[in-house]
Amino acid sequence: MIDSNRKRIVVAGAGIAGSLIASGLAERADIELICLERVGATEHMDAGTGLNIGPNAIKALRDAMPERAEAIVANSLPWENWSISLTNGRVLMDLPLHSVAGNPGIRIRWAELYALLRKPLAAVIRYSAELLSCGRTADGLFAVYRDRETGAEVRIDKIDLLIAGDGRYSKIREHFVSREEPNLLGVCLYRLLFPAGTQCPIDDYGQWFNGPNRLLAFRVPGDFVYCAGSFPIGDDGIVTDEMKMPAALRRIYTPQSGSLCAEAAYLVDAIERNADRIHWARLQDGTTRYDAGAGVLLVGDSAHPMVPTLGQGATQAVEDACVVVDEVKRALRMGRPLTDIPAGVAARRTERAEFVVSFSRDATDTMLAGGDPVAGTLKKLEPAFTARLEKLYRDVSVPLS
Ligand SMILES: Cc1cc2nc3c(=O)[nH]c(=O)nc-3n(C[C@H](O)[C@H](O)[C@H](O)COP(=O)(O)OP(=O)(O)OC[C@H]3O[C@@H](n4cnc5c(N)ncnc54)[C@H](O)[C@@H]3O)c2cc1C
Repeated sequence: MIDSNRKRIVVAGAGIAGSLIASGLAERADIELICLERVGATEHMDAGTGLNIGPNAIKALRDAMPERAEAIVANSLPWENWSISLTNGRVLMDLPLHSVAGNPGIRIRWAELYALLRKPLAAVIRYSAELLSCGRTADGLFAVYRDRETGAEVRIDKIDLLIAGDGRYSKIREHFVSREEPNLLGVCLYRLLFPAGTQCPIDDYGQWFNGPNRLLAFRVPGDFVYCAGSFPIGDDGIVTDEMKMPAALRRIYTPQSGSLCAEAAYLVDAIERNADRIHWARLQDGTTRYDAGAGVLLVGDSAHPMVPTLGQGATQAVEDACVVVDEVKRALRMGRPLTDIPAGVAARRTERAEFVVSFSRDATDTMLAGGDPVAGTLKKLEPAFTARLEKLYRDVSVPLS
């Protein structure tokens, strides 16, 4: 029998945070859960690339949603080591993650991760449903979405909790808070996924610098290599066609000696071969905000846009989801209104998210114009940096109630 007192929760976006929140609440008879996802059921955003997820996300997920954690770990490779070298082969840092974390992180393909997260949610996610607008009337919160297959516009009224899992350009944040211009850091970041081939020297997470120009790469399941290259750009933030030319990319990574180490040579060859498949982006971050008013909660990139330097964007979205699920269950158990959830989540998460946003920005020092990868990396071996890494990876300060 359907409980007429069911609380109506609308989650916009079945990305990392949205899917996990939906997973954690989907089975409850006292909740009517609606998850709106702009893309179709077989489309995957950024399906062509990979990502690393920090040890802290796996730790939080194991505590809060153990079966989700195991499904993700089983379909990924462990992230156990972080090395930093110059493109001429000089090794600057070789950090086993167990020295700063209690468990490994993971390496995975986006397509695989999205498929795993969304698989158990067939009955909950409305695909091709693009949130168009939202707001508050005397009757409560509402949301309007367009069914991209039929073109029909559908309105959902009397929402008890509206959750913005709709990413960096969140419509919900824009409506209830404001539109925020991104803070650009003056760095172009591009991504590529390609088959490893038989002579691949890339394995766990590594970075190779020539001046501030950086290559980052690691293997992901399915015998693919994920590579993220970067280089500083001018204050105008423009990435010109000239900068994207394969010969220009080879030039910026080639050391004075003219000779690239085996890993850098392999990556530069792959970049040249696959230049037309590269995804281009720029490093940017913004301010942290979870509470967008009574019953309106921001999570993931909509709450705390950050630079991906420490691989913490998706990682923090996972931490958010664990806390949100816990807060909602606790409110229902205690008979408290869901309108208070945003303030409760903000109280538990804001300090931690602000720490991660600023730590990620600080760790970008070696990628900025004029950055010195040798001095900057040696600093990353000092206690001031490793203590922050330990705080990041171990202090998943989301004790479940
Ligand atoms: C170059 C680059 C590399 C990165 N590498 C890493 C990494 O290695 N590790 C890491 O942890 N993080 C990484 N990140 C960050 C990571 O991608 C994000 O932080 C993470 O995906 C945020 O999760 P989310 O759930 O907030 O949003 P998303 O995963 O972006 O999901 C948002 C969802 O909302 C949907 N949506 C958007 N608008 C609407 C709408 N109007 N209506 C309905 N649905 C909508 C989208 O289709 C999408 O499914 C990287 C980011 C970049 C740019």
